[in-house]
Amino acid sequence: MTIALETLTITDASRKLSHGEFSARELTESYLSRIERENAGLNAYLEVFDDCAEQASRIDERRAKGEALGSLAGIPLAVKDNILIEGRRASSASKILEGYRAPYDATVIRKLKEAGAVLLGRTNMDEFAMGGSTENSAFGPTKNPHDTSRVPGGSSGGSAAAVAGNLALAALGSDTGGSIRQPAAFCGVVGLKPSYGRVSRSGLMAMASSLDQIGPFAKTVADAELLFEAIAGRDPMDSTTLDPAQIQKKNKRAKRIGVPRRFLEKGVNAKILARFEETLTTLRGKGYKVCDIELPTITHSLAVYYIIMPAEVSTNLARFDGVRYGLHVDGDDLYGDYIKTRGAGFGREAKRRIILGTYVLSAGYYDAYYAQACKVRAVIRREFEESFRAVDAIAIPTTPSPAFAIGEKADDPLKMYLEDIFTVPANIAELPAISIPAGKTMPGLPVGFQLIAPYCGESALFSIGKDIDGD
Ligand code: GLN
Repeated sequence: MTIALETLTITDASRKLSHGEFSARELTESYLSRIERENAGLNAYLEVFDDCAEQASRIDERRAKGEALGSLAGIPLAVKDNILIEGRRASSASKILEGYRAPYDATVIRKLKEAGAVLLGRTNMDEFAMGGSTENSAFGPTKNPHDTSRVPGGSSGGSAAAVAGNLALAALGSDTGGSIRQPAAFCGVVGLKPSYGRVSRSGLMAMASSLDQIGPFAKTVADAELLFEAIAGRDPMDSTTLDPAQIQKKNKRAKRIGVPRRFLEKGVNAKILARFEETLTTLRGKGYKVCDIELPTITHSLAVYYIIMPAEVSTNLARFDGVRYGLHVDGDDLYGDYIKTRGAGFGREAKRRIILGTYVLSAGYYDAYYAQACKVRAVIRREFEESFRAVDAIAIPTTPSPAFAIGEKADDPLKMYLEDIFTVPANIAELPAISIPAGKTMPGLPVGFQLIAPYCGESALFSIGKDIDGD
């Protein structure tokens, strides 16, 4: 049986599965044959699980028995390789985790399993989620399905390419400074970074713990919402998750959108700006009020991010010592073991950030860098809060340029870091943000339109987002 995967959404697939138009097994097998044909070229998956068909058949059997099924019953999903799935390998695309198997399910995985999802495999990424192109993977770069000479973005490039190339119906990624939204923009799919604390980080390999969030990639805003609902919630395993009672429900429809104009003057590709303006015009046509706002300190977000993030990275990656996880290389003594294992196991970018982070946290520089960055972070957060008195959401492009060529920025970390200018503010301020496909640039490359909402205001992102993608 052939299923038209190109136009399929989770909503459609769920309806067709429940009407018996196709079985979960048939749907999964369609994805597996697509993966078989395309994955060697795209390198979206690091591993495709060998029991996908069995997972799907179990759902079919339960459906046949008339059992109550979850919201994602029979839906084939891809999972970024830094999220633990019990008994499976998990590498964060790093050599240092060679041979490591996850001893438990991440909370989001437990929830996906309970919702009946079929887990297809582990997707490629920048090592430990550090990068914006998936070129920092120890297992080779992923290619952008729209143009295989270009990067899919990163660090969750494998998940974005899997969804864009119809190698999965939707996927999970993680976003510390844009790693869901930027690849979503480059690959022409929807990507959501939830508010900090909405989704449990238990079982997510930590990059920068005060910034990390797991979130969905999907083809439509409605699908992203469905996946978000399935994974969100308070979790005793992550004390930073919120109690649903703490989340204020706003029933008023979001109608006012603010644009921090001055921030957009910073070297944005002209075609990206043109698509951005067109989307604003569409929204005006649908009754939204669009106005300019000031967020003066937002311009410092990138500097703040590249101090706080490596500081936390250097601490989090200290656990990879050759004793507790994965790779072990023998040195002359214990210290020698550490040096040899970490030297052989980590790639260049991981090492660069560990060194940077150790430097900004060191006794002589802590006050000058880390403490200062934390203060500026508080100011940025306050400015967002103040601006949300006047607007319901803030719009900015997701990226300053479309997907770049593989190799183009690989040797220039600063150029690569500058790509994150529009995505890091939401992480710094712990706010929810979504990237929605909004047209293309001339050579057929997708462009992302980003919306940022007040803390826990995901519902505003979904309602405005649906007015953009027409769902
Ligand atoms: N590109 C950013 C970085 O390199 C974002 C990473 C992320 O969100 N995991 O840090």
